[in-house]
Amino acid sequence: MAQRRGIPIILSSPSGAGKSTLSGLLRKWDPTISFSVSATTRAPRPGEEDGREYYFVTRDAFQEMVDTGKMLEHAEVFGNFYGSPLGPVEAALSAGRDVIFDIDWQGGQQIRGSSLAQDLVSIFILPPSIKELEARLRKRGQDSDEVIDKRMAQSWQEISHWAEYDYCIINRDIDESAEQLRTILTSERLRRTRQSGLVDFVRGLSEEYGERDT
Ligand code: 5GP
Repeated sequence: MAQRRGIPIILSSPSGAGKSTLSGLLRKWDPTISFSVSATTRAPRPGEEDGREYYFVTRDAFQEMVDTGKMLEHAEVFGNFYGSPLGPVEAALSAGRDVIFDIDWQGGQQIRGSSLAQDLVSIFILPPSIKELEARLRKRGQDSDEVIDKRMAQSWQEISHWAEYDYCIINRDIDESAEQLRTILTSERLRRTRQSGLVDFVRGLSEEYGERDT
């Protein structure tokens, strides 16, 4: 059996604040961390691969997953549906692997109301400014002007939920933010209540006392 259950880590931010890059850097730092691959009805962007960034599914297939209880949470974002399949998440957490969710505030709220709430760590990534957020979205070159305008119009709605999160990182510099993210996870892993092997460890220390010649 795993020493501890994995930690579900929610990362939310407005589109373009750097959440995907940060989640990638965290997994590079610790490859044991799982990424919850969401299902979505949106079309793949150039370079995206089915099963890696997302499972790209039809609306019918998505609805079927919801109706049969296979989604941990789901929401409509920018006119498309997104959801986190429950099975892989449960498997990773019970094997002691931490799991990152790159999801919006609606998904965050649903997971806070789920059976994962107790172990949850949630982190909100803020852009240094709205001007910078827009510049990053345009530089990314992945979306049309129309989609970018739509995302900018909705970014405030996402930002307005910042205070629902345990931690906030202002992403001024990607390396500094990645370091902060690693610090958060390292600290959370060290919480006494998560270290299930501690009782045995301290019992061992106590036995050592008994064995000392005084
Ligand atoms: P994008 O289309 O840019 O990949 O994602 C758009 C938004 O949907 C992002 O804010 C992303 O975090 C959110 N999102 C991605 N997957 C999920 C999911 O499974 N559930 C929810 N609630 N939001 C998601």
